Amino acid sequence: MNLNAGFSRLEFRDPERARALRDKLAGLVNEIDDGVTIMHVCGSHEQSIAKFGLRSMLPERLNVIMGPGCPVCVTDLPEIDEAVLLAQNGATVATFGDMFAVPGSIKSLAEAKAQGADVRVVYSPQEALRLALETDKEVVFFASGFETTAVATAAAILSKPAGNFSVLSAHKYIPPVMEIIAEMPETRVQGFLAAGHAATITGWKLFERFVERHRIPVVVGGFEPLDILVALVKLTELVCDGNLSVFNAYPRCCTENGNLNAQKLLWEVFQSEGGTWRGIAHVPNGNLRLRGKYSFLDAHERFDMDLTSLLEESAPRLTQDCICGNIMAGIKTPSDCPLFGNECKPQNPVGACMVSSEGACKIWHEYGGHVIFGDEPGSIPESKQADCFTKPGC
Ligand code: SF4
Repeated sequence: MNLNAGFSRLEFRDPERARALRDKLAGLVNEIDDGVTIMHVCGSHEQSIAKFGLRSMLPERLNVIMGPGCPVCVTDLPEIDEAVLLAQNGATVATFGDMFAVPGSIKSLAEAKAQGADVRVVYSPQEALRLALETDKEVVFFASGFETTAVATAAAILSKPAGNFSVLSAHKYIPPVMEIIAEMPETRVQGFLAAGHAATITGWKLFERFVERHRIPVVVGGFEPLDILVALVKLTELVCDGNLSVFNAYPRCCTENGNLNAQKLLWEVFQSEGGTWRGIAHVPNGNLRLRGKYSFLDAHERFDMDLTSLLEESAPRLTQDCICGNIMAGIKTPSDCPLFGNECKPQNPVGACMVSSEGACKIWHEYGGHVIFGDEPGSIPESKQADCFTKPGC
């Protein structure tokens, strides 16, 4: 099968093509006694996998796990605390909806708002820029997301914002955390499925050094069901053949060198520096921080960030039973957590993975987790499997 031939003509949810790809996958992994473990590093991949029931149709010996692909989930507690502190100290804090309910050490931004702080949900940095034009108050854009989203924040910084606008950056950069996962002694990952949108910015060539260094192949994939299945077939082939290379299975968006204009904006405004990814580890070069020449727009520089007063408000939340970190490192799955669906639900999240629409626990809770085709209760009968590619949420 030539995976790229006629790729642009594929109907991305065609059940027949999906079955053919599933059969191809089964043929590949059934020869491998220990099976194959693949990690994707993108909440959008997990959403598609869950929404379209893809994991249910994969051969048993192919294990597809989610890595640290949810930027909200990896935002560290002190980063949330800083945003809460700024809001409580009188700034207007504007942020994306997913960040609103993420628990901090003491409280979330949603809880701070309920106590009177001015916290606004925005859909873009430009909306935060407009807010700043409408008020004399300090407006802090609490920015989260990977390199894809950080480009929009960079554009906002370069747009000569009002003097009362600043950015509290919790932006993260994916390639360094892949290095951390690859180096973890307990890692089971034999291949990485890289996020097509991030690679559209960075280009696929960026992963070549990673492959060389860690001897783990990488395939860049898109987000429709057939995008994912094609990428899995190619990645499984690379793993089974011991072929250490990068393959672009998302050629309609991603190119070898990516979007050079976007990269220019990104690195004009941001520099990478080490930082803690919640529950995972300190990631060298994993955080995106404003460069010194934009320090006048950096909330870290503009405001007193001493968290003592906030941390003295009450005892810190107990989150020690949350295994988000292990889930994002690919060591556990949401259903391994005893709190999943019990004490921890989207309405009452204990950990960040149950808050964001890109968080593994929220996605598994929404779509029912790991459904198995077959005779088990709750399984999807063979006759209905085709629906899973045409009816989202099946
Ligand atoms: Fe954390 Fe809740 Fe997920 Fe458990 S179910 S890992 S407590 S977010």
